[in-house]
Amino acid sequence: MKKKINIHFIIIAVLAIVMSTVLSTIVSYTVLKKEVIDDLQAYAYALKGTGVFEDVEQIHYISQTDKLRITLIAENGAVIFDTNADITSMDNHEGRAEIEQSRKKGTGQSVRLSNTLGKNTFYYAILLDNGYVLRVAKEASNIISVFFSSLPFIVGIVVILVLVCVLLAHFLTKSIVAPIEKMAQNIDDKEVECVYKELRPFVSMIQKQHDNIVKVADMRQEFTANISHELKTPLTSISGYAELIENGMATDEDVIRFAGEIHQNANRLLILINDIIRLSELDVSTEEAVQFELLDLYPLAQNCVDMLQVNAENHQVRITLQGESCQISANREMMNELLFNLCDNAIRYNNQGGSVSVRVFHGPLGEGCLEVVDTGIGIPKEHQERIFERFYRVDKSRSKSTGGTGLGLAIVKHIIVQNHARLELESEQGKGTRICVIFPAVEE
Ligand code: ATP
Ligand code: MG
Repeated sequence: MKKKINIHFIIIAVLAIVMSTVLSTIVSYTVLKKEVIDDLQAYAYALKGTGVFEDVEQIHYISQTDKLRITLIAENGAVIFDTNADITSMDNHEGRAEIEQSRKKGTGQSVRLSNTLGKNTFYYAILLDNGYVLRVAKEASNIISVFFSSLPFIVGIVVILVLVCVLLAHFLTKSIVAPIEKMAQNIDDKEVECVYKELRPFVSMIQKQHDNIVKVADMRQEFTANISHELKTPLTSISGYAELIENGMATDEDVIRFAGEIHQNANRLLILINDIIRLSELDVSTEEAVQFELLDLYPLAQNCVDMLQVNAENHQVRITLQGESCQISANREMMNELLFNLCDNAIRYNNQGGSVSVRVFHGPLGEGCLEVVDTGIGIPKEHQERIFERFYRVDKSRSKSTGGTGLGLAIVKHIIVQNHARLELESEQGKGTRICVIFPAVEE
């Protein structure tokens, strides 16, 4: 950035210098030209005023000067007198611009390139009363020499300006970059103010991303801590029971009971690990990787209800299915998981003699709706938001005693997002819960 500003500064400075040099050369040359012509005009009028040139006899008294050349031209263009040249070798002057002009208008002027390098000759001619033309001429610098004479100054100024530019660019970049550097160091501080309004969207985006990264990192850490904790409990009991058997401290009857406990805990470990693997699969699976197909929700729900029938009977809960055939676009495996998790919860967190009713129907806009209503224990308001978090359980002891890991609804939430659906939850403690999953309508 510093280098870029430096280069830009120098380019601007050099451009400015070149332009002002060209302009000032033109201006000073114009002024110089006007002065020279004005001088010549004054001389010509003064000389005319003396009357000397009306009398050809007297003109030979005029002495030669280096600075001013005086020429007298007769009516026919022949040169009668010249202070600086031999008139016999001079050609007819009638065609010269200044002479022609003076014949027409009384005076005439012109500028011609001189033989001397870098010089121009300026001519001023005036018509005398006797018909002769008096011409005065002078050499002066031309535009190129005006330019070259100012060249040393220009070079000097360029050098000084480049130095100034480098210095300025240095301080400027420093003052521009310093607040940005300060901001970068305190990016997690919400109060940090963005000095440049152009950078505000950029900064707020970075802050948002930063927050997200921190949040994700926190979640990961919490998740890992939770996993370790969840794995530890069943493993501790397995190890405890196995140790008792190993030491011969268990009677035959105990051994059977302990083996049952070990079996149950090992199963729990398997379920837990399965759920964790499933969640991490869902975490990494991008939307493109999910296979969508047109599905009828009703037979899927029927299948799930049939499968859970025995489970429901064990809990003394009645599970029923109502509704109609309903097409949705979704991933089949994920739909089975979703149905299973919702129905399993509805049975598990139910009361003896309670019921679960599953319903598949069309929404008012043709959406596909899956509703699971139970007459169970319900979810207190303050927990309703959080039950979709990993390992979150309202009543830890009840959930655990039923073998819950707290991952079921986290998986459901993932599935719902990936299948473009949304979820509605209504629940009242002691009365029951209603969960409705709504899929966007598909053209049938
Ligand atoms: P998992 O489903 O992984 O075996 P889990 O059932 O405990 O374990 P989730 O399905 O995620 O975990 O549910 C989280 C918590 O939400 C449950 O522990 C329970 O407290 C509460 N919950 C879920 N569904 C219901 C429901 N239908 N009625 C009452 N409480 C529920
Ligand atoms: Mg569950």
